[in-house]
Amino acid sequence: MFESLKKKFSGTIGKISDQISSEEEEKALADEKKEKAASKGTKVADDKTSRKAKEDKSSKDVKEDKSEKEKEDKSSKDESHLKEKESEKTSRLSFLRRKSESKDEDTSKKDEKALKQHKKDSNNSKKGTGKVDDVESGKDGEEEPSGMFTFATHKTISEKDIDDVLFELELALLEGDVALEVAEQIVKSVKNDLVGQKIKRRSDVAKFTKDALRNAISDILVAEGPDLNKSVENAKKTGEPFKIMFVGVNGTGKTTTISKIADHFVKEGYTPVIAASDTFRAGAIEQISHHADNIGVKIIRHQKGADPAAVAYDAVEHARAQKKELVLIDTAGRMQTNVNLMDEMKKIQRVVNPDIAIFVGDALTGNDAVEQARKFDGAVGIDGIILTKADADAKGGAALSIGHVINKPILYLGVGQGYGDIMEFHPDWMVEQVLGD
Ligand code: GDP
Repeated sequence: MFESLKKKFSGTIGKISDQISSEEEEKALADEKKEKAASKGTKVADDKTSRKAKEDKSSKDVKEDKSEKEKEDKSSKDESHLKEKESEKTSRLSFLRRKSESKDEDTSKKDEKALKQHKKDSNNSKKGTGKVDDVESGKDGEEEPSGMFTFATHKTISEKDIDDVLFELELALLEGDVALEVAEQIVKSVKNDLVGQKIKRRSDVAKFTKDALRNAISDILVAEGPDLNKSVENAKKTGEPFKIMFVGVNGTGKTTTISKIADHFVKEGYTPVIAASDTFRAGAIEQISHHADNIGVKIIRHQKGADPAAVAYDAVEHARAQKKELVLIDTAGRMQTNVNLMDEMKKIQRVVNPDIAIFVGDALTGNDAVEQARKFDGAVGIDGIILTKADADAKGGAALSIGHVINKPILYLGVGQGYGDIMEFHPDWMVEQVLGD
């Protein structure tokens, strides 16, 4: 699960460590060369006559001129390479963002803003504004772990050190179906945490980067949400059934998920009732009835084409009469853009007043699932999310983004086709999943 997301984060940790360590190594080597050159120069001056020294000087001048020219050539080459890199990245970002955006204007405005911001940031870094105390000299008595690269001096992480790697991370996240706003927030938060950190050794960089990513992801994942177990337990005490309405597009695994929840509560000793309120799709009533029979729970069903709100009403009345604690209301899997069907769902809400609405989305559809959630939340109001098919999802983009985008928690993950293949979702678990060892 989410292997590709994990790879991206560990890649970022490695790249930031490499970037900072290699800078330091290069600097140490350059210092060493300078020292050697200086001591050699002194010896030569002592041994030779002044005429020879003059000759040496003039030949050194020629060499210096030559090396000055080489340096100029190299720096102009470096500059044009940087420019090329920048423009390649800019066009790649706009492509990816166009791909990931939700077609609304808001997002495209955001893209422009994000691009401008990035360019501004890069320019600032180039001008040196982001360069805060690149290297501070310092010594301390702390012991160094042997066999590890250790900086000769303290180093303070600057924006310039991490800008490129974080930009790459942002692109990689977008490619992995992470929502644009989430990718941007992760990068911003990591940058905030890292810039200004003082480091002494390579392992510090890795640790700080991992901690920064951990912070960023924990902030993204929404923790607060309804606790189904407690709610059902409470319903038993009050005698009023807890009512859940499930919404989502066809084929995402809604019927299977309702069955999994019913099965879970049967195993906990409760007696759920299912309302077959998807009276729209051919075969839907038979499909959910088949699951209900398998699990051994009561199903309330009407004819195909009947009023979905009437089915839900009957199910609630049945639960009240029979002192059942839980009513699970299926609804027609509809496109989030279908206004009539959305209105039907609102009618169910008016008639039975469900305690919560759960959006069921397919993790494999990435950004589509996020967009569906956004639309359903706008139309009927979502209290929580169940993401199905997480067992087959390597990308993890929807799992990381969906809760943040609508500010509602993921409650469960579907992790297979069997009734028992469902697990509670906890943000800490997700963080471990993508950043753990
Ligand atoms: P609905 O049209 O939204 O009611 O979708 P279904 O419940 O009929 O599920 C569609 C397909 O997805 C079925 O083949 C299910 O077995 C499968 N499915 C549902 N949930 C999961 C899950 O968590 N993991 C996997 N691998 N398959 C699932």
